[in-house]
Amino acid sequence: MQIILASNNQHKIDELSAILSSFGLPISLISQKTWFKGNPPEIEETGSTLEENALLKAKALFEMTSLPVIADDTGLEVYALDNAPGVFSARYAGDHGNDVANRRKLLHEMNGISERSARFRTVLHFLNDETSMSVDGVCEGKITTIEKGDNGFGYDALFIPDGSSMTFAEMDAMTKHSMSHRARACHALGRTLAAYVKGNS
Ligand code: IMP
Repeated sequence: MQIILASNNQHKIDELSAILSSFGLPISLISQKTWFKGNPPEIEETGSTLEENALLKAKALFEMTSLPVIADDTGLEVYALDNAPGVFSARYAGDHGNDVANRRKLLHEMNGISERSARFRTVLHFLNDETSMSVDGVCEGKITTIEKGDNGFGYDALFIPDGSSMTFAEMDAMTKHSMSHRARACHALGRTLAAYVKGNS
């Protein structure tokens, strides 16, 4: 089965492909960039939850390609901030994808707050002509008071996963991926797809 992934991020495609292949699934993933020959559509993330965004991206791409689709959305949910930045994680400080400004804003909002528990959550949605299903993966942890580490991206330098003394940005990629929200969502999707494929064979 060929599945199109609603992302242009090669790292996400590689990670999901590796995990899905570990389930022995007869699946090949193709990025939307490859499918649209370097000119992928811009699908606006107008949903008010991670689930809504993953679903709207999956639906839009399915309508354009008629191929089975996997779409994702990820957010950092800080409990003391009513789960902000959440669905707005990429544009918390205004500009989409300005990681430096987003981290600065988060530290500012958390100034003086001692309860610093938070979680990363990734939602993955699979959609084809006969089914629509969603899974999530969670990584619980704490927000630091200063940035630590140079690896990774986004909020990695501010997030210490439970059970670790290092931020995601202080870890090598393998260590982060062994516990990350995204890896957990990929495994959950692998299990769900394996059951689906088995039920259809
Ligand atoms: P996306 O849905 O994967 O594009 O993620 C949305 C935003 O969440 C990104 O722009 C980052 O700010 C943040 N984010 C997602 N995954 C991670 C992660 O693994 N580490 C740190 N920040 C992340």
